[in-house]
Amino acid sequence: MKPLPKHARAVIIGGGVAGASVAYHLAKLGWQDVVLLERKKLIRGTTWHAAGLIGQLRATANITRLAKYSAELYQNLEAETGVATGLRQTGSITLALSEARKEEIYRQASMARVFGVPIEEISVDEVKARYPHLNTDGVMGAVYLPTDGQGDPANIALAMAKGAR
Ligand SMILES: Cc1cc2nc3c(=O)[nH]c(=O)nc-3n(C[C@H](O)[C@H](O)[C@H](O)COP(=O)(O)OP(=O)(O)OC[C@H]3O[C@@H](n4cnc5c(N)ncnc54)[C@H](O)[C@@H]3O)c2cc1C
Repeated sequence: MKPLPKHARAVIIGGGVAGASVAYHLAKLGWQDVVLLERKKLIRGTTWHAAGLIGQLRATANITRLAKYSAELYQNLEAETGVATGLRQTGSITLALSEARKEEIYRQASMARVFGVPIEEISVDEVKARYPHLNTDGVMGAVYLPTDGQGDPANIALAMAKGAR
C-alpha cells in the first residue's frame, strides 16, 4: 500500500461503486488531491454482490435524473477507461398486476418522460411479443424502457476508480 498523504482536499471512505463514483466525479471536476480509503479490497462490499441491473423507472424526480445520468455515463465508461463494464442495453419491461400498481408505473413513466428517458406504455400483446416466455395472466399494464440494461457492477466501479486515477 502507498503511504497515506498527511493532507487531502477530500477523503472518501469506502471503495464500492459509490466511493469510486465520488472519486471519479471529483477528478472530472479537476480535484487531484483526493484519497479513497478502503478497509479491505476495492469493490468487495455490496457492489460485489449486485445483479447490475440498470433501471431508470424511479419513484422520485431526483432519482430518475440520477438513474438517467448513470445509464448514459456507463455507455462511454469502457471506451473512456479501457475497463470492460459488461454493459448490455437490453431494455427492460415493468409489469403491473393491480390497478394501483398500474397507476404507479404510469405516473413514474410520465416523470421519466419529463427528463427525456425513452419509455413506452405497452400492451400485454406487446409484452408477449418482446418476451414470449412470460406468463402474462393478470397483467394489467406494462412499460418498456429501451435504454435500461445490465452491466458488471464490480467492473463499472473499477472503471470509475481507474478514471479517477
Ligand atoms: C444481492 C444484491 C443485488 C443487487 N442488485 C442491484 C442491481 O441490480 N442494481 C442496482 O442498482 N443495485 C443493486 N444492488 C444494490 C447495490 O449493490 C448497492 O446499492 C451498491 O453496491 C452500494 O455501493 P456502496 O459503494 O454504497 O457500498 P459497498 O459496495 O458496500 O462499498 C462500501 C465499501 O466501504 C468499505 N468500508 C466500510 N467501512 C469502512 C471503513 N470504516 N473504512 C474503510 N472502508 C470501509 C467496505 O469494505 C466496502 O468496500 C444489489 C445489492 C445486493 C446485495
